[in-house]
Amino acid sequence: MEQKRTVYMDHAATTPVRPEVVEAMLPYFSERYGNPSSLYALAREAKGAVEEARGQVASAIGAEPEEIFFTSGGTESDNWAIKGVAAGLRKRGDHIITSSIEHSAVIHPCRELEKEGFQVTYLPVDEFGRVDPGAVEGAITKETILISVMAANNEIGTIQPVAEIGRIAHDRGVLFHTDAVQAIGAFPVDVDAIGADLLALTAHKFGGPKGAGALYVRKRTRIATLMEGGAQERGRRAGTENVPGIVGLGRAIELAVAGMPRNATRIAGMRDRMIREILDAIPDTRLNGHPTERLPNNVNIAFRYVEGESILLLLDSLGISASSGSACTSASLEPSHVLLAIGLPHEIAHGSLRLTLGQDTTEDDVDHVLSVLPGVIERLREMSPLGG
Ligand SMILES: *Cc1c(COP(=O)(O)O)cnc(C)c1O
Repeated sequence: MEQKRTVYMDHAATTPVRPEVVEAMLPYFSERYGNPSSLYALAREAKGAVEEARGQVASAIGAEPEEIFFTSGGTESDNWAIKGVAAGLRKRGDHIITSSIEHSAVIHPCRELEKEGFQVTYLPVDEFGRVDPGAVEGAITKETILISVMAANNEIGTIQPVAEIGRIAHDRGVLFHTDAVQAIGAFPVDVDAIGADLLALTAHKFGGPKGAGALYVRKRTRIATLMEGGAQERGRRAGTENVPGIVGLGRAIELAVAGMPRNATRIAGMRDRMIREILDAIPDTRLNGHPTERLPNNVNIAFRYVEGESILLLLDSLGISASSGSACTSASLEPSHVLLAIGLPHEIAHGSLRLTLGQDTTEDDVDHVLSVLPGVIERLREMSPLGG
């Protein structure tokens, strides 16, 4: 029987684990299963693997190994950065600046802190989703302790001027955190070039396993510990290390950074062809996000007179995996906060489709999507009560 063709276009949600990464991880599930904290050869082997991965992550982002702390992923790293700094610096000030298009792993902890009496400024973005560094500067008060702006947006792909924001933060003596989850492997990420004091990343967005991430914490940064228990991660993040996950994270970030210039160029070529051909072939469409300051793998298009959810269902029935925004917002009926923040009216925000490419995406995959999408949209528009 012929297998149905499937095309995965949701790499911003997660990526397949690369074979080399699986291979590096496998021994740490079975023969090298030691607990890194124990005191025998098997444990030292696991400890050594964790420290090797720490070095791999550090060198990928221009940090020192002692500045890397392993976590369970992007969500934990973002939560730790925000709540940890808030708790650590509460006596110095109670004001945090962030943007209105951050991932919920940043927005939700900020909302929680507001309930505890912190002041949070959610800066608006322009029609392309860019934060104005001047607005960041203008929002700083003597109470400001932290600025958190993502390196690149997971829904619309917009890349933020984080180096400028980092410079402003430093000039004003304010800590700067950036959620670089979507940036790793897409463009060079260097903590000094960005001026980041804290930076969040997660393996499963660049060919590594789920449940393994890291928080970079610049030396001498005051940050409270959220996870209390054993002395792992130099006493700052307790819990037996996810050794296979950490090994996978190390190998994946090494591969992602080494392959970056070539991969990013190839993927951006496919992205540009998709955007051009979709906008050409289908009327009443617009590109969401920035036309050039954009992740190399992100296509996000608004289709008038249709619902994103219906597009997804039809595409799924044709073997194509895509997203209508972020995986977290697609479970609710509220349109994405990111699309609303760039000024899309509700009905157009609802009709948006995100296609995100990856290292395994081929020109054939792109051709396949381009060949079926116009028919899908036409069918939905014919049935649509919204007109068109
Ligand atoms: C996926 C993602 C996260 C969350 O990372 P997890 O490892 O899935 O918890 C945070 N921020 C951004 C921008 C993301 O894309």
